[in-house]
Amino acid sequence: MKIAIVGSGGVGSQAARHLAKEGHEVLLFEQFTVNHDLGGSFGESRIIRKTYADRLLTQLMGAAYPLWDDLQRESGEDLFVRCGGLYFGDEKDEAMRLVEDALKVNAIAYERLDAHATNARFPAFHLTQNEYAVFQSESGFLRASACVKAAAQLAVKHGAQLKENTTVKAIVRDGAGLRVATSAGDFGVERVIVSAGPWTGKMLASLNLPLRVSRQQYLYLRTKSPEAAKKFVPGTCPVWIHSGSIAGGGEYYGFPMDGKVEGVKFAQHKIGPIVNPDAVDRDFDPALKAEMLKYAAERLPDLTAEVTYSKTCLYTNTPETDFIVDAVPGLPGAFAVGGLSGHGFKFLVLLGRIAADLATGKKVPYDLSRFKFGRFAK
Ligand SMILES: Cc1cc2nc3c(=O)[nH]c(=O)nc-3n(C[C@H](O)[C@H](O)[C@H](O)COP(=O)(O)OP(=O)(O)OC[C@H]3O[C@@H](n4cnc5c(N)ncnc54)[C@H](O)[C@@H]3O)c2cc1C
Repeated sequence: MKIAIVGSGGVGSQAARHLAKEGHEVLLFEQFTVNHDLGGSFGESRIIRKTYADRLLTQLMGAAYPLWDDLQRESGEDLFVRCGGLYFGDEKDEAMRLVEDALKVNAIAYERLDAHATNARFPAFHLTQNEYAVFQSESGFLRASACVKAAAQLAVKHGAQLKENTTVKAIVRDGAGLRVATSAGDFGVERVIVSAGPWTGKMLASLNLPLRVSRQQYLYLRTKSPEAAKKFVPGTCPVWIHSGSIAGGGEYYGFPMDGKVEGVKFAQHKIGPIVNPDAVDRDFDPALKAEMLKYAAERLPDLTAEVTYSKTCLYTNTPETDFIVDAVPGLPGAFAVGGLSGHGFKFLVLLGRIAADLATGKKVPYDLSRFKFGRFAK
């Protein structure tokens, strides 16, 4: 089957690899270059975890894990650092209860630690007495840019045609197939997968989707001493999420040292300023920096206030943070995966698999009704 993919970012590169490996004729269009830093997937790390306050997402992560192992094996690269993950919060926090519920329902082993035990075992953190943690040993981080590059390279190795610096301008029905109009000419195909990340709303403008693209910024801080740095190495320091830690909604999260960028990375998972993906102010917001330094001083006492690296990235948010995974209404043969709402990286290899299966008419063994376009009409 001849299949066009719009965007070689997180989803597109994974879908292209699966399809090319199965012998389909794949055209992978990218408006910039693979692993550019203007969308949603660039960077050293993304958290991967089964610990979700949601039964379906926890179940889907169970399916994603072996696919990440496959990608790691096939690429021969070190993509997944299994350093464990800590989800902590107040003992009255509802999200903490839901996380435990989802882990139990999906029979995933975890440890429940009180504040004292957490601080003793993971000395990078400071939990207060009314807090507790859930530790799940299979959590960790994915080396994000390396994952995207590995998938795109494997897609090409399996025969996909990667067309960088080529913008898809329109997708239209053309007889029994589809025509993809690009900055490098028109291409006739049988199927299209739209995996345009922050540009999904623009690509599917006629659907008037309620997607909001937000600017997200993270930073790395230097540790206070070589002794302090030892508290942040993978093994001693897990990935972490501090549930309910931002007044008004949202949470801080972070990583052990990734061995690539100096310092310790952390961020806010909270929708940032809404932006046009083609015109993003990428200067670090001084008010956000001040909030983050205050948090670090209270909760990560071995970090200095010295920023070693910072970056801007984009979330593509749906109203309820559920993904879009569906056939495109009014355009038979076209499918879309997007709206990953700041938590989709860990699912990418599975979403790529699902996109490939939808496009080739295979049965998808998951209940994806939550991810359909139709929900926006309600
Ligand atoms: C700061 C930050 C932290 C995050 N942390 C986590 C985390 O810890 N764990 C987690 O699971 N997830 C996390 N996420 C979310 C996750 O990284 C994203 O949801 C995911 O990477 C987005 O992938 P995508 O394929 O939808 O978009 P992208 O990777 O942006 O890919 C879309 C691609 O389509 C291309 N494109 C768009 N339009 C066109 C066109 N018309 N023609 C050709 N090409 C086009 C773009 O150039 C781009 O390359 C985070 C996101 C951010 C920004």
